[in-house]
Amino acid sequence: MEKKCRKIAIIGVPCVVQAVNRIRTSENDLLKPFGRSIRLVIGLFCTETFDYHMLVEVLLKKEHHVDTWNIDRLDVRGKLEVTMRDGSLVTIPLEELQGAIRPGCRHCTDFTALFSDISAGAVGSRRGHTTLIVRNETGRAFLQEAITQNALLVGENPVDTSAIERLGRMKAKNVSIDRS
Ligand code: SF4
Repeated sequence: MEKKCRKIAIIGVPCVVQAVNRIRTSENDLLKPFGRSIRLVIGLFCTETFDYHMLVEVLLKKEHHVDTWNIDRLDVRGKLEVTMRDGSLVTIPLEELQGAIRPGCRHCTDFTALFSDISAGAVGSRRGHTTLIVRNETGRAFLQEAITQNALLVGENPVDTSAIERLGRMKAKNVSIDRS
């Protein structure tokens, strides 16, 4: 509001995208200017998120003795992979993460951010690549422009759409998810 931004892009997990969609489609006069200013919404594939204290303080620090200030990245691919700055890897089975899942995520049924312009996530693509789902003309135009300007490289390998569909179905039914 203060900066009067008129060209806003938002990246978020599906529940964030749902909230943004409410703003974009609202008939409320106070919300309409915000809805018009949100020009692009990119939704991230999401199966759940974790409570910071439970994940970092309890699971990583206390139970697995991980020096969390030395973590380079976290990945969930059938298990939690913790890559340290020196390149070493700590792996933690998904069962151990159950207690850290945020309660609201247990009721969530949207895996791919259905209300986004473009959905993005690692599932279905090779390591180092990102799967994109273009959902409408806004998303298509943005993607095309990014490719034209060489801001985005298109991979050669086909996307494994069955892996995305499987997770999407499981999340829609809200059953416990096995991503192995
Ligand atoms: S799983 Fe949790 S964080 Fe992910 S979209 Fe659903 S509610 Fe949001």
